[in-house]
Parts: sequence; C-alpha cells; structure tokens
Amino acid sequence: MMLHDVPSIAQLIKSLQQVPYLASKNLYRVAEHFLELDERRLEQFCAVLLHAKDNVVKCSTCFCWQEKERNCSFCFAEKREQQIVCVVESWQELLAVEQTKGYTGVYHVLGGIIYPLEGVGPEDLTIEPLIKRVKDKNISELIFALSLTPEGEATSAYIAKKLDTLPIKITCLARGLPVGSSLNTMDRLTVFKALSERRPF
Ligand SMILES: [Zn+2]
Repeated sequence: MMLHDVPSIAQLIKSLQQVPYLASKNLYRVAEHFLELDERRLEQFCAVLLHAKDNVVKCSTCFCWQEKERNCSFCFAEKREQQIVCVVESWQELLAVEQTKGYTGVYHVLGGIIYPLEGVGPEDLTIEPLIKRVKDKNISELIFALSLTPEGEATSAYIAKKLDTLPIKITCLARGLPVGSSLNTMDRLTVFKALSERRPF
C-alpha cells in the first residue's frame, strides 16, 4: 500500500510537513498519534491551540509573548530595572534567563539572528525597534545573550555599531562558554554565571 491510497492521511502528512521543528522522521508517528486520540481529546487539543492563538500577543516594546488582556509582565514590572535590557534571540532563551531567577532587568526578543544564508536580514528582526527603544527610553545597559556562533556574534556587532554614538554600556555573556552554544541548551547555573560574569562587548 502506498500513502496515496489513503489520501486523507497523505493530506494530514502534508499539513504536518509545514510545521517547522517537527523532524520529518516523526511525521508518521505524530499523524498516528492524532488519529488514535479519541475525538473529545482531539477537540480539546484544537481548542487549546485556538485559545492560545486568540489570547496572546507580542508586547510592542520587548516582543515577548503576553496575555492580550494584561500588561507586559516585564515592561510594566516596577521591581524590574527597566534601564537594563537583555537581548535574546527568542522567547525560549528569555525563559532560560528567567529560570536563573537572578536577572532583574528587562528583555528584547529579536525574533532570530541575522543569517544571510537563510535569507534572514536585519529588517526581518526587531532591531529597528530596539535601537529606537534604547534612544527613547534612555537604556543604560544592553546585554547581548545571543548564540555563541559567528552569526550570533555578527548580529551583536551589527546592533552595537548602530549604537556607537550613544552613552550606553554594552556587555555580553562571560567568556569560556562552549562555542556554538545558546542559552537554552545550558543548565541554569551556567546561564546564571554567564550573565553575572558578563563582560564588555
Ligand atoms: Zn514587554
């Protein structure tokens, strides 16, 4: 039997192929998982997905996901130092920093890094809003917490250059971290040390 003999499953596989980060070797397993769920659980799953889609937005200042009906839990937090901004690639890295429970500043989620080979340029990221934020809100320190890869370094350098006339302290993660690593692959203590021992960029 071939997949096209069961067109409904072929169509399901085709939809799953459009989900990034889902390894292609797992597609059949995932499809089977959904097919074997009873209808009520499948409906619940779809409802949760739609509910999340309806109820969250990205903060217009830091670009972190937030509940639509609430103020951003970082940008509106009085106890957080609003003048210190940690620049992260994605929300996952933000959560890795939050897990250390040792960071009291705020964030800026870039939405990726500059990656010419993948067609990702500065205009695809939230770099312009970051520059504007630094200027308008008198940010005193920017901490680059991007991946320790050539692309991560180049992205930090690109942003730093745009800010070189401003009196702002620019720092990055501590030395000695493995090349190629990103915050979400490090354990909590390593993230904590990397941030607390940050150095001038
Ligand atoms: Zn925010």
